[in-house]
Amino acid sequence: MKKKVVIVTTGGTIAMVKKGEGVVPFEKGNVLISEIPELSKIQNADIEVFEFSNIPSPHMSPKHMWLLSKKIDEILNREDVIGVVVTHGTDTLEETSYLLDLTLRSDKPVVCTAAMRNIGELGTDGPRNVYSSVLTVLAPQSYGMGVMVCLNDEIHAAREVTKTYTSNVATFDSPGYGPLGIVDEDTVIFFRRSLTRERIFVNQIEEKIALIKTFTGDDGSLLRSAADMGYKGIVLEGFGRGNVPPLVADAVEEVVSKGIPVVITSRCFKGRVYPVYAYKGGGADLRKKGAIMSEHPIGQKAKIKLMVVMGKTSDIEDIRGYFEKNIIRRAIKNE
Ligand code: ASP
Repeated sequence: MKKKVVIVTTGGTIAMVKKGEGVVPFEKGNVLISEIPELSKIQNADIEVFEFSNIPSPHMSPKHMWLLSKKIDEILNREDVIGVVVTHGTDTLEETSYLLDLTLRSDKPVVCTAAMRNIGELGTDGPRNVYSSVLTVLAPQSYGMGVMVCLNDEIHAAREVTKTYTSNVATFDSPGYGPLGIVDEDTVIFFRRSLTRERIFVNQIEEKIALIKTFTGDDGSLLRSAADMGYKGIVLEGFGRGNVPPLVADAVEEVVSKGIPVVITSRCFKGRVYPVYAYKGGGADLRKKGAIMSEHPIGQKAKIKLMVVMGKTSDIEDIRGYFEKNIIRRAIKNE
């Protein structure tokens, strides 16, 4: 029996058309898939389409992401399925793909894709991106690679990739890492594997996690408000190595003392968050006050990871263990 690649559609520009005032979801979100003749020429697999949702990706909530993860696990459990392609909006693709990367239990390939140009727009990129993603699923090296994101002929690791351009089709990049590989015409070529991939198997996630960006002159009131509003965990995007203004440091200490984890990331998207500075608000000072250093700098990635980790534990020191692996390893070595 021929194996199947299941295309799970969720919505996004790839399933949108221009109508009246602007671009909106097309009533039949997965119509695009049936209009890619190249898919029927693929010899070694059949294509099946499953419509999960038809929403713009800014409407994607933690609950949607989690239900999608469970649905994909169910599909991957089928013996006839070799892998899954997920179509999604580009705006939050980096979050959904990372949640899938952390939580999916199967090693079968999952490739997420999208389009920057809607159906009918000149030079629309959706059909090619879907085709390249199916080829990527079928590439033997994709097994066990973790969840990937494939657009514009590049393949990226879900943990590393981020949307960098509001409008250009070459929007996805993995700053500091580069792509895992490329799709050149009909050939998938991998250059490397991601050595930073982690998997955290959970039975639930914590949806109520806030992401706050700090700014010059920040007095910590937004952080305190998030805690007062009932957020169970907070990711705080600081500066550079993971530093914040002095008054924010007081707020961090207060929030952590209430048992709410505060994970520090950086508005720099390359490099590592690390407790270097001991001045008030510096990373070392924040860590002394109980904050967790995320190491990976991108705030929206840390937010997804905190949602997953807090599906397992709400103990701050346990949570720290998931974020500060290298920092803790080094501290133990230096003891
Ligand atoms: N706003 C759209 C979305 O994320 C953008 C896109 O798909 O490219 O749904």
